[in-house]
Amino acid sequence: MLFKQLMQPLAEVFFPRSCLHCGDAVECSDYQFLCSACSRELFFSKPPTCSICGYPFFGILAGPRVCPHCAELDPLFDQGKTLFLAKGPARSIIHVLKYQYGFYALEDVKAMIAKAPYYKNYFDGGILVPVPLHPTKERERGFNQSLMIAKSLNEATSAKDLQKLLVRTMYTQTQTQLSRAARYQNVKNAFALAPDAVVIPNQTYILIDDVFTTGSTLNSCAAVLLEAGATQIKVATLGHG
Ligand SMILES: [Zn+2]
Ligand SMILES: [Zn+2]
Repeated sequence: MLFKQLMQPLAEVFFPRSCLHCGDAVECSDYQFLCSACSRELFFSKPPTCSICGYPFFGILAGPRVCPHCAELDPLFDQGKTLFLAKGPARSIIHVLKYQYGFYALEDVKAMIAKAPYYKNYFDGGILVPVPLHPTKERERGFNQSLMIAKSLNEATSAKDLQKLLVRTMYTQTQTQLSRAARYQNVKNAFALAPDAVVIPNQTYILIDDVFTTGSTLNSCAAVLLEAGATQIKVATLGHG
């Protein structure tokens, strides 16, 4: 133990961690895997934000707080929040997490949440429900990134619990190349309630996904929870795409 305690700082002198975005050595940074220069490029989604997707509004505004992207969505959930905009270093965090088994990056995500009370407090008392992957996709990838994110949120916030209430019943093609309308059709009816799921009315459920893009996936998940009797549904993502 003592040996390890001594060796750890030494190892960092000889082999400094490199920034997951730019590759430079990470020194004097608030984060373990992002250098201080890249940390400054993070764009946190601070209030005021769109009430549906969490996209930040710039400046003071009056009237309904819904951004132009969400105006067409017809959301089945009540509210949404996102931690940061999914560009630059934030995009790299999501990328290593999703495609390179970079779960270590979640330690930095937890540190970011600790500094963002407007995001952290959003989870108080809620039950976190990760957006599921189809079993075939999960086998291919090896894990479900939304579940990994939900686990970190469960640790970093005062959420009440994490429950895998949903399953993905359809293997859908990747959404990245699809139009908004095609995305909606693609995920419509793609989800179902897990066989052992119990949904309690008046309990707040918070759907968790890695990125908010059009909201169609989250909306399809919300439809299943609504159908099962949920009355309070929110969504949260790490990034806004
Ligand atoms: Zn960097
Ligand atoms: Zn929006």
